[in-house]
Amino acid sequence: MTSKIEYKQRIAELKKQIERHNYRYYVLDDPEVSDAEYDEMMRELMALEEAHPGLVTADSPTQRIGAPPDKGFKPVTHRTRMYSLADAFGFEEVTAFFERVSKALSGEAVEYVCELKMDGAAISLTYNDGIYAQGATRGDGEVGEDITLNLKTIRSIPLHMQPTESPPALEVRGEAYLTKDQFEKLNRDRGDTGQNLFANPRNAAAGTLRQLDPKITAERSLEAVFYAIGYGSGEDIRTQWDSLQYLKNVGFRVGRESVLFKTQEEVFSFLEKWREKRDSLGFEIDGVVIKVNDLKQQERLGYTSKSPRWAVAYKFPAEQKTTRLLDIQVSVGRTGAVTPFAVLEPVRVAGSTVSRATLHNEDEVKRKGVLIGDYVVVQKAGDVIPEIVAPVPSRRTGDEREFVMPDKCPVCGSDIVKPEGEAVARCTGIACPAQAYEHLIHFASRGAMDIEGLGDVVAGELREKGLVKDIADIYYLKRDDILRLEHFKDKAAGNLLAAIEGSRRRPLSRLLFGLGIRHVGSHVADVLAGTFGSLDGLKEAGTEELTEIPEIGPRIGESIINFFKQDQNLKVIEKLRAAGVNMTEQVKTELQTLAGLTFVLTGALTDFTRESATAEIEKRGGRVSSSVSSKTDYVVVGADPGSKHDKALSLGVKVLDERGFAELIGE
Ligand code: NAD
Repeated sequence: MTSKIEYKQRIAELKKQIERHNYRYYVLDDPEVSDAEYDEMMRELMALEEAHPGLVTADSPTQRIGAPPDKGFKPVTHRTRMYSLADAFGFEEVTAFFERVSKALSGEAVEYVCELKMDGAAISLTYNDGIYAQGATRGDGEVGEDITLNLKTIRSIPLHMQPTESPPALEVRGEAYLTKDQFEKLNRDRGDTGQNLFANPRNAAAGTLRQLDPKITAERSLEAVFYAIGYGSGEDIRTQWDSLQYLKNVGFRVGRESVLFKTQEEVFSFLEKWREKRDSLGFEIDGVVIKVNDLKQQERLGYTSKSPRWAVAYKFPAEQKTTRLLDIQVSVGRTGAVTPFAVLEPVRVAGSTVSRATLHNEDEVKRKGVLIGDYVVVQKAGDVIPEIVAPVPSRRTGDEREFVMPDKCPVCGSDIVKPEGEAVARCTGIACPAQAYEHLIHFASRGAMDIEGLGDVVAGELREKGLVKDIADIYYLKRDDILRLEHFKDKAAGNLLAAIEGSRRRPLSRLLFGLGIRHVGSHVADVLAGTFGSLDGLKEAGTEELTEIPEIGPRIGESIINFFKQDQNLKVIEKLRAAGVNMTEQVKTELQTLAGLTFVLTGALTDFTRESATAEIEKRGGRVSSSVSSKTDYVVVGADPGSKHDKALSLGVKVLDERGFAELIGE
């Protein structure tokens, strides 16, 4: 029998995975798993929590929706919460919904409004005295992101309401979405320019809404349709159907296909009709939303922490087709990840022609057991990028062959390596055009070469205009080149040039971190720079020499050796050298007597400044942190210490006065 501890563990594991997928889906708009796989995890978690209600916590993904807003946008607190919808997979679950409603309303007659469930992103618009004032995403339901300007670019969003008498404040809610044509065009363009494809129209719509530059939003021609009033119409609205009529009358687009039904049978026929006919629409839908019509009844039914009890989203089943797997090729992503994808004999699945499918990674190809030449089952489960479900072994002829991951990058020719125990193979070339953009941003970032003014927008433009192909090109930029960038006048260009110039003198550890060698984070870069003292010294080091260093394991060692084996990387290094970039650092000769220890400094010291005490600690392998926690090893206390001293005492952390500190470092 499974023990409570095992349930607990499984619940914790599922929560962690779902949180991660939520982040990728809602914040990055770039999911890693299909909706069907995600839904499966969610259902397992819900079932476990239902069986063990004592284990439900407020932070469980079953209790919360979406994700908190991204930091890039101003937060907007919704006056009333924006909810998610409970799902119903299959007619049985719709029947269960009807039964729940009927029971809660003691068998009263109930009318239902059915609306198509657009596969887009929820939006909330506020109108003051009939004039568009603010637009927001749903976010985590309580706080969304301010995307007022982006929404303004959508033509189906009215900037003025229609009627003569507008309410002082009105919030309307609806869905922003892309048509099938727009979605396909967007992904085609992204494919052509080497960007990751959006997995489904919903992520594409959400990603488009959350652009920092409204021009990009405008280019992608979103549409919008509205289905709810958040607050404030000032009219006597008693039903969902009335709300839709009101919205239409005051100038908002509402779903043309929505219908008011009196019986459950009619609802089922509506569901059947759209399950069969969804392909005929110009936009993707992933189901039908069924809502109790009467607002008073809605009020009595109420809400769970996540969704209304008066509505349900009937989700269409995934559509599957069988076709031939003609080949497995690989693409190189922005981080160098080499991803296999299937080239399929074109087949129509759920309304569009499919000729590619993602395979995620080499292990996935093995796990699925597909061979090149196989017949395979292809599925679209709410996702527009289809996936291969399984091969059909009974149709094999014996001519099929296994997929072998290429050993050279198809884009730049550098070696592809897949370190032991990792799922993803990567291109090792730092000048690989497929990765250059991301790499440039990392190189210029604060922890690396710290080039102020060279963030993602400028990096993107430098790449687009062909001014920078690899990181070393930064040091060859002329003033005129920079003046070609948007918004760069003389002063800004001067500042950027000065920042680039300043970065030439950064210590080797920063350069090493900036080179983006896999597994070489800033701490490892420090250790390497302190041990070898020069980039050339590191380049010459063999595996043994590297792994002798206490903090360098075989995985890091292998990655460093691989890095210096690539001609392309050596070329970039020579270009950096020729540009005068510093490649040395003083070797740390001190014994690492404080290795692994964390210090906090507080109060005024007499023989040391903060900086010199920090340097003494770091020289010996220790670290200095700004706050005291149970992980702190020593708090060094000078005159007039502050609350850090008290905290150290309350946590039982060792406290040293200046003399004690001097003794510890052997001065
Ligand atoms: P949901 O998409 O199932 O339903 C709620 C949303 O439906 C609303 O916010 C609104 O945007 C939309 N909607 C469309 N038409 C509507 C209408 N007529 N009336 C009301 N709402 C309408 O719920 P959710 O919480 O937004 O997302 C959950 C879904 O997202 C799941 O189905 C899951 O598969 C997917 N998801 C996938 C991943 C992944 O990694 N693949 C991660 C997180 C979520």
